[in-house]
Amino acid sequence: MTRAAAILLFLVFLALAVFVLQREETTGPLVRTRLLMGTVIEIRVADRDAGRFDAAVSEAFAEMAAIEKLMSPHLPESEISRISTATEPLPVSSETGEVLQLAADMAKRSGGAFDPTVGRLVSLWGFAEGEPRLPAEAEIAQALAGVGSGQLRIADGKVEKGSARLAVDLGGVAKGYAIDRAVAVLAAAGVEHASVNAGGDMRLIGDRAGVPWRIGIQHPRHSEKILAKLNITNRAVVTSGDYERFFEQDGIRYHHILDPRTGYPARLCQAVTVVADRAAVADALATAVFVLGPEQGMALLAAEPAEGLIVAADGSVRVTPGLEESIEWP
Ligand code: ADP
Ligand code: MG
Repeated sequence: MTRAAAILLFLVFLALAVFVLQREETTGPLVRTRLLMGTVIEIRVADRDAGRFDAAVSEAFAEMAAIEKLMSPHLPESEISRISTATEPLPVSSETGEVLQLAADMAKRSGGAFDPTVGRLVSLWGFAEGEPRLPAEAEIAQALAGVGSGQLRIADGKVEKGSARLAVDLGGVAKGYAIDRAVAVLAAAGVEHASVNAGGDMRLIGDRAGVPWRIGIQHPRHSEKILAKLNITNRAVVTSGDYERFFEQDGIRYHHILDPRTGYPARLCQAVTVVADRAAVADALATAVFVLGPEQGMALLAAEPAEGLIVAADGSVRVTPGLEESIEWP
């Protein structure tokens, strides 16, 4: 073979390889990530020719960023920050109004275990700032004074607080809501198979090419272990755990899910995973069930159109009957 023929053959081979690789890219899933709401968001589109949904994925990320901008307690200009400092009824966006209403409803249904008015308590503990500390009892009593979702009135596009010092926190529901919004954007663009995953909290569109999505639930005490796998189609899966943001002092674990009745971290669970149609509902429910504990938590789940898995403080696991057939144990 002449040298020219060899070079030609090599070039043909190269062109072929590039062609195959490109085909791979257009027929494989589309996976993109972005850092938002303090976590990595991954959007995975598993439709055929997923690449055509690239713009929709960008739009879904932009939607989530817009929700963060409205509801983050860390941005002084967010609506949540402005509600917390407001001394008069404040007009809010339909999105913030909707999430506040959902939070207030969940507060009612959970007997106050979930409570969006724990804003002062949440900042006192400092988990969101990354420098948590054990507050003095008097500080906790002060932060709890006047707390209760009955102190929040949402009507005619305005939010009114029972007292000027009441601060609002949507940390237990806003991430789920943002996931729902992203899903709505993708579905409107025609996406039929996708997952929107925000650091383990997710919602699925359809199945994954004919089979359910398999979602690994992290073991709350062994981060490298999977506690169980869930086979899920077209629903949201959200987990609240005491292992994500916590510190230990004198042998006690203090974490970021607070019991509004005591002002201290809820003590009855290690982790709660909730499966529901909407991620916002699953998110709020997971927080509520975590606070209520395994007994009352199972009762709440039975009363809701939702399923769940509860890891109690002693490590024992409870599963709602409707979830059993979707679970794979290791
Ligand atoms: P994560 O943010 O890790 O997904 P959760 O959904 O359980 O966890 O939400 C915990 C967050 O919710 C806290 O960081 C705080 O902002 C807020 N929060 C804590 N306790 C409560 C409560 N009892 N009711 C409503 N929100 C709460
Ligand atoms: Mg939650």
